[in-house]
Amino acid sequence: MREKKQSGFTLIELMIVVAIIGVLAAVAVPKFADLVRKSQEGSVKGNMGAIRSALSIYYSDMEGNFPADDLSSLTVNGKYLTKIPKARAPGYHAESDIVCVGLLMGPPCRLGLGAPSGYDGSLGGLWVYWETETAPLMGTVRHKGDFWLSCQHTDSKGTVWTAY
Ligand SMILES: [Zn+2]
Repeated sequence: MREKKQSGFTLIELMIVVAIIGVLAAVAVPKFADLVRKSQEGSVKGNMGAIRSALSIYYSDMEGNFPADDLSSLTVNGKYLTKIPKARAPGYHAESDIVCVGLLMGPPCRLGLGAPSGYDGSLGGLWVYWETETAPLMGTVRHKGDFWLSCQHTDSKGTVWTAY
């Protein structure tokens, strides 16, 4: 009588395979999370670029004038943008398409009496557009036509969002 040769894996072999999968997952999952964040950051930078491009086109159409409003003039009849693309500082703030401007200080743009300092980054992931020739009362000097993301947090490259 010949002994039947066992086929398949032993328990030890299975345990080794499971352990290897565990190690691979531990390496791959954080990388994947990092990729998701980087792609979200890329999308925000793309949105910022789209709005700045629309501002440039508006500027040349209007023979050297930037919009003097909260950028709603860019979306009239979808001429420059169909809508304001979303702002988002991945991992820190919710998505928003609110555009805060220099002279309009209503909520959620106003941060108490020191409102202009909010434009330096403490508005929590909102877009800011500087629509006036008057420079901010404090903080970074801004000029009419400037557009940025108000967020003092950093992206995955370590750059503060207001610097983009
Ligand atoms: Zn922030």
